[in-house]
Amino acid sequence: MSTTGDSSKELQFHWVLDCPCGTQLTGSSEDEIVEVAFAHLRAEHPDMADDYEREHILFMARRLVRP
Ligand SMILES: [Zn+2]
Repeated sequence: MSTTGDSSKELQFHWVLDCPCGTQLTGSSEDEIVEVAFAHLRAEHPDMADDYEREHILFMARRLVRP
């Protein structure tokens, strides 16, 4: 939700990750979806949080073009 003032990009992507618990997580960049996913894991699935790494999150996440 940050406003960078940079609107020159042609395509805007966002990242969507469906957690097995049914929660849909979204982020506007790779870094953000990783952050959001880890925050969710630590909050809701603390026993799983240590098993996941950035690459696992990105492997499961889908990058979608923003309309
Ligand atoms: Zn979950």
